[in-house]
Amino acid sequence: MVCRQKAGKRGLTRLVRTDAGVLVDATGKLNGRGAYLCEQMACWERALNSDVLTKALRTPLSSEDRDRLRQVLPRS
Ligand SMILES: [Zn+2]
Repeated sequence: MVCRQKAGKRGLTRLVRTDAGVLVDATGKLNGRGAYLCEQMACWERALNSDVLTKALRTPLSSEDRDRLRQVLPRS
């Protein structure tokens, strides 16, 4: 769990490590090691700018992964 909030899964975005990289799991059905982020911008910035996601997913984030995740940043 990357996010420290104790919100339920509602409002959380699941990220999944796949063979194609770290993807946003919009359907909640992707298999693989996952991590959850809440809808707060600060949470995503922390995930993108530190190694918390790398540790949670046990894989390095490529620049493509970072770009992909930036596109789904919450607009708050
Ligand atoms: Zn959070």
